[in-house]
Amino acid sequence: MYSVVLILIMNPITVSLDQLRKYNVPGPRYTSYPPATHFTEEVPSLKPQASGLKPPLSLYFHLPFCSSQCLYCGCTNIVTGDQGKSAEYLGYLEREIKMRAKYIADGSEVVQIQLGGGTPTFLLPEEIEQLGEMIHTNFPMAETIEAGVEIDPRCLTPEKVDALRTAGFNRASLGVQDTNPDVQKTIARIQPLEQVAQANQWLRDSGMESINFDLIYGLPGQTVASFSQTIDDVLTLSPDRFAVYSYAHIPWIKPFQKSFEDQLPDVEIKLQLLQLAIEKLTGAGYVYIGMDHFAKPDDAMSKALFDGTLQRNFQGYSTLKGVDLHGMGMSSISHVDGRYLQNKKELDAYYAELDAGQLPLLRGYVMTAEDQIRYDAIMHIMCNLYIDYAQLSEQLGLDFADYFKTDIASLDDLEVDGLVRRETGGLHVTPLGRLFVRIVAMRFDPAIQSGQPKGRYSQTV
Ligand code: SF4
Repeated sequence: MYSVVLILIMNPITVSLDQLRKYNVPGPRYTSYPPATHFTEEVPSLKPQASGLKPPLSLYFHLPFCSSQCLYCGCTNIVTGDQGKSAEYLGYLEREIKMRAKYIADGSEVVQIQLGGGTPTFLLPEEIEQLGEMIHTNFPMAETIEAGVEIDPRCLTPEKVDALRTAGFNRASLGVQDTNPDVQKTIARIQPLEQVAQANQWLRDSGMESINFDLIYGLPGQTVASFSQTIDDVLTLSPDRFAVYSYAHIPWIKPFQKSFEDQLPDVEIKLQLLQLAIEKLTGAGYVYIGMDHFAKPDDAMSKALFDGTLQRNFQGYSTLKGVDLHGMGMSSISHVDGRYLQNKKELDAYYAELDAGQLPLLRGYVMTAEDQIRYDAIMHIMCNLYIDYAQLSEQLGLDFADYFKTDIASLDDLEVDGLVRRETGGLHVTPLGRLFVRIVAMRFDPAIQSGQPKGRYSQTV
């Protein structure tokens, strides 16, 4: 049988085509548990935290505007040529910030801020500073804050970099995706490497503490040779972190993705692209954090992996544990005190709720006691690639191996295929299993195991 030979550093790994086909099924990305497809229109109330609890705070702000539509994009965004839109949006965002600030417990402090979108750098320099001012005057700030921003190199200027630094941002994530001109043309995102290098230089010169590059594998027209060149190109710029995302084909939500459907690489090539990224980035000295993240060994994310304190949230992996996440702006999701809340996803509806003096909530979910337990199990698999039964038993106040005996027993085929290794005291995800870690997590998700998943998901490979 033809097989794709995957060479992980030090560990030759062979994946058969049958295995690839078996494990390339739709599945959640587990940025939350339960996944957002479980949210209902019955919106839970956002209560002020019970007195005495002072959870650290993570704030997310969604800035939806973009100047043009990239054809691979799965984000909730609004394409506009009207620069004036962002000023109006910031006015509404400020109203939401002031309402949200009332729910923050006395003594809680912000330890993390993230701007996402859309394109946060669509904002003018003075608007970036205005947003920073809004955040800092309405929320109590910890002494040390990780403040990150997603950056589109195509619209970055030195003035915007200065404004970001003035507003307190110390981490930047650049959308690079692929450096091949043909691939860029197909996805309608023309972005020469020189433009990325220029943006990277401005950010470095400004004193940003950590710079991440986003790449995507599985884009139309990508080949092993072309993606190899992309990785060589970006390695010359030596970012502190890489996120190498699997292209998510969701044409039922984003119909414009159909434009290149016939040019998508097949599943074997797609996995070879991921393998190539793992091989080249770890070969260049980056630590493979898990599913889609890599970091230099001295970066905070690598340290969190070694310390076992890595977390997963809507922005991917995070180094902070036990925080309340407040999402603001159109479509953003909050995770506060065992409740998920998502804002209205349409701009008009978002504005209308705020005009009516209400939090602009669309849907949500209240976690049950069982959800909380499964959340911890799934996040351990996704982040630490290991479950120590004794440790989680103590943490959750139950006998882990007994509570999850059906789930653990369901791993027989995954163990035979070399994705996991079970011991009396724990469960390991193997180097091969890291490539399919969502599959391992899915065995602990009763909605998936019952064969009745809620909603549709992208493929796991
Ligand atoms: S990829 Fe980024 S810049 Fe492109 S359309 Fe999507 S949100 Fe906008």
